[in-house]
Amino acid sequence: MAIIGGGPLCTYALERLAALLPGIDHRPNVRISVFDATGLFGSGATHAQNQSPTNYMNRTASQITFAADDLIDGAGPLLPRALRPTFAQWAQSRYAATGDSRFDLGPCDVPRRYLHGIALGERFDLYVSKLRSLERLEVLLLHAEVADIAEVPEGNGLCLQISGSSRHFRADQVLLVTGHSQNRPAAGSLAARLQGHAEDNPPVRFVMQPYPLETQLPLDAPPPGARVALLGMGLTAVDVILHLTEGRGGRFEPKTGEAFPLQSYVPSGQEPSVIIATSPSGMFPWCRPRNLKARDPSGDDHATFEHRGVFLTHEAVRTLRHAVGTAAIGGDGQPLQIDFEHHVFPLVVLEFAYLYYSVAGGDALAQDICDTVADRYQAFLRVGCKSAEAAIDWLLEPIDLCFGKKLSTLSISAERFDWRAVFYPLGSPEDGGSPWAERVVAFMRRDILAAAEGNLSNPLKAACDGVWRDLRAVLSEAVDFGGLTPQSHQLFRDVHLRLYSRMSNGTGQEAMSKILALIEHSLVDVSMGPGPTVLPAAETSSFSVVNRWTGETKSVDFVVKAIAHPFDLDLDVRPLYRNLLRRGLVRRWRNRGATREEDFIPGGLDVTHDFHSVRANGKVEPRLTILGAPVEGVAFFQLSAARLGSPVLAKASNWAKACVDIMLHEQFAAGSEAHNAAGD
Ligand SMILES: Cc1cc2nc3c(=O)[nH]c(=O)nc-3n(C[C@H](O)[C@H](O)[C@H](O)COP(=O)(O)OP(=O)(O)OC[C@H]3O[C@@H](n4cnc5c(N)ncnc54)[C@H](O)[C@@H]3O)c2cc1C
Repeated sequence: MAIIGGGPLCTYALERLAALLPGIDHRPNVRISVFDATGLFGSGATHAQNQSPTNYMNRTASQITFAADDLIDGAGPLLPRALRPTFAQWAQSRYAATGDSRFDLGPCDVPRRYLHGIALGERFDLYVSKLRSLERLEVLLLHAEVADIAEVPEGNGLCLQISGSSRHFRADQVLLVTGHSQNRPAAGSLAARLQGHAEDNPPVRFVMQPYPLETQLPLDAPPPGARVALLGMGLTAVDVILHLTEGRGGRFEPKTGEAFPLQSYVPSGQEPSVIIATSPSGMFPWCRPRNLKARDPSGDDHATFEHRGVFLTHEAVRTLRHAVGTAAIGGDGQPLQIDFEHHVFPLVVLEFAYLYYSVAGGDALAQDICDTVADRYQAFLRVGCKSAEAAIDWLLEPIDLCFGKKLSTLSISAERFDWRAVFYPLGSPEDGGSPWAERVVAFMRRDILAAAEGNLSNPLKAACDGVWRDLRAVLSEAVDFGGLTPQSHQLFRDVHLRLYSRMSNGTGQEAMSKILALIEHSLVDVSMGPGPTVLPAAETSSFSVVNRWTGETKSVDFVVKAIAHPFDLDLDVRPLYRNLLRRGLVRRWRNRGATREEDFIPGGLDVTHDFHSVRANGKVEPRLTILGAPVEGVAFFQLSAARLGSPVLAKASNWAKACVDIMLHEQFAAGSEAHNAAGD
């Protein structure tokens, strides 16, 4: 077996093998070769132990695990409980053993990413040593980039080729868990123009990819006092901002006269003079609420608190598919396709309203809401709608009336659920309200304080967490593997997925209150509104940031593309997937439209539901399994660390089980022995 990529997904896969293989009596000799381009086995590059300590995770300590558990269907034998700690349990035992306060984390704390990397590295070593203790089993760890995989002419095997070396490795089964890569700027793109301008005008700089922060953004780049612009305001931007401020010696202090978690900033003098943050929405991701579902450090109780859909359910998606779905073009065996905007989004908003009012008004109000909207909900499931806005207003109308009536009898402190204000809290710069930066600051203060109330107590945070996050499996059922029409799929990626990320996939209060403090300190500038343009300045060597609403222009000399790069076969700096494409071992996934021009091609690779590659000729390639970033787009929500019962663990488990099954197959045994005899 070969595993390409030594990060979290590889660690989860090795755990499964370490749990499964000791129970197999008669098996062939096994060699497991793990390749990682960075040599950071266990953590991989993203969760590297040596990364900037200012980088945070976006989830709480008890919602991180490293091993399959009994919530994973058909996982088979599990490791003993003591070997399956959550991150919270692992950190506490580390703290008890070392007294090192970095590990003194509670179950609801949001850890720094390098600490997760330390834990991953330890778990990886443990799984490898368990595997190595088995007879006739060898584990090779290779600090090397796999550049190509070819089919072996004789036999069934595959041959892995290493970058910059003539060494080849044979394998019967290959797991590709290569995570996020980096892309070159596309010819003619804005990034290419910015890069070209920077190359022509040193010391002006454009950074296409900011990780690892320590080497891409060292103390002299950008130098203290520089004017910096960021393209992107998501989690990568949060990492970059904290690295350029706190990472350069700045400090945060509790804000006098304010409730925690608000803070103020004490600069070190090493920071840029300003960091202008830009993005299409003009706002940072919302603060993740204190996770009151995660108070149990073992994670066992978490499922009890998860929201289960009342309106946005698997059943509802199936009913809609059956009632209003259209046949996929050329997709034998594919489900009928639905439209996210017209069939699913209204149910997302309805579920939001339900959960919001349930938390605000308790069970009595929740039941009344269900009763009052039941007929309209059933009617919606039969026909969907042509206008999402109109359908949402129509579905919420009886709920509004119900809330109005109950207001006098229940002691409810929450406001009426105004879905437009909830989903688009800053409005538009055109609507004549206060300046954009004031709106951002007012929203962030409200948002961070709401987050401090927690995801079971604050109605809005309960809805963000309970609908967008707890019901991801329902959203996946609607979207994944061609569940949406091509046009709707594209809109989902460009609009709805961004809403999901912004409203529910941010980081915790500690990091977000630091970002707010930096804005209030005028170090981070959020005044440029939604969608400003950043382009080479016309008459100087610098870059211009142009506010498209007011025309105001600001000059900067350092631009960072602060976005995790999407998987892109053509632009990937690594050659592996292009070579696989050339050999016909993989192909791009496309959601087929009526004509080729109407196809939607999100960029990910075509895989089966078992995540086996689909070859250029349409045949399944069962020797190659691809998980994570390269298949994002075909199936969403692929990119995450493990928590109890999480789909990433299930996928690693399925791969390991399939390997064991194949291993026990006679033909595999024969092939394997032949390969072993042939050596490398
Ligand atoms: C900056 C950033 C922050 C994130 N933060 C979080 C978070 O807080 N919480 C969360 O749940 N998720 C987070 N994610 C999502 C992330 O995708 C997962 O947490 C996790 O890292 C996925 O694991 P992986 O093993 O698929 O990929 P990775 O962690 O990316 O590991 C893949 C490894 O494969 C190696 N590799 C790639 N190509 C080759 C090759 N050809 N040959 C050999 N080796 C190769 C890489 O060097 C890398 O070490 C974050 C992602 C990014 C980019």
